[in-house]
Amino acid sequence: LSQLFRPLDMLGMVYRTVRQGLLDMAAMFDLIDTDAEVVDLPGAPALAVARGHVRFEDVRFAYDAERPILKGIDIDVPAGSTLAIVGPSGAGKSTIARLLYRFYDLNGGRITIDGQDIAGVQQASLRAAIGIVPQDTVLFNDTIGYNIGYGRAGATDEDIRAAARGAAIDRFIESLPKGYAAEVGERGLKLSGGEKQRVAIARTLLKDPPILILDEATSALDSRTEAEILDTLDAVAARRTTITIAHRLSTIADADQIVVLDAGAVAERGTHAELMARAGLYAEMWTRQAAEHDTEDTLAAE
Ligand code: ADP
Ligand code: MG
Repeated sequence: LSQLFRPLDMLGMVYRTVRQGLLDMAAMFDLIDTDAEVVDLPGAPALAVARGHVRFEDVRFAYDAERPILKGIDIDVPAGSTLAIVGPSGAGKSTIARLLYRFYDLNGGRITIDGQDIAGVQQASLRAAIGIVPQDTVLFNDTIGYNIGYGRAGATDEDIRAAARGAAIDRFIESLPKGYAAEVGERGLKLSGGEKQRVAIARTLLKDPPILILDEATSALDSRTEAEILDTLDAVAARRTTITIAHRLSTIADADQIVVLDAGAVAERGTHAELMARAGLYAEMWTRQAAEHDTEDTLAAE
């Protein structure tokens, strides 16, 4: 009889593995549907990251053929610099992050890292080079320590604690009766949006990738916690190529380059000072947020 059940056990194992993979994707992209079309080309080489120069060249993309989302995006992110992408919700900001991670293939143009088209390299090597703090984090049904340690194979308890400190979630974890061994996720402790975001930040600090994508990474945090973490993130970003998708413009004012995305196209680009002088969309967004600032702080503190 046990012979009969073995294949079922196997199936269960495969199912768990696949599910874990899906959760992993979901954790990074806040959506479950994955594009099965994205495959490694036969004999694709590993990505060789030299300094992390990222380029988007006439990038075109649509989730559904009838509705173009990105309509020819050109962005150059020199190695080690910080690009901020801002713009109205639905403009295509998160889509740009997903495409760099090659969650989908393009409909036109190309994305390169240090001159290599990302569609021509092994996906695993591409994903190893990029750390993403997504807009909405889904955690594994495992311990909080596992969820952080997942960022780097072979991470020690001390590494995990240091990452938790960097993400300002160490005191919260230490206050739990089971500490780092506390179960989280569907069947465990329910974390708030801000706590999940800090777990994702800790995971990324641990991964320490040459290319960093922060997709509204601190949007669920109150401004005091945000300020605490931004210092850590700034220190990490200073040493690597960083793409920050920002909700609060005050957090990206010193980016090397700011791109304003509107309806899938680059509407404006420049530094904060240049864009303010232009008195266009960015300046308008900035003025509106400055006026809302106090209200926002009050709401975040509740
Ligand atoms: P932003 O991050 O700027 O708010 P997104 O890149 O998330 O915008 O989305 C851009 C557009 O693409 C939106 O209109 C959104 O509804 C659409 N979109 C996002 N994800 C998907 C998807 N998986 N399938 C179909 N449409 C999507
Ligand atoms: Mg988004």
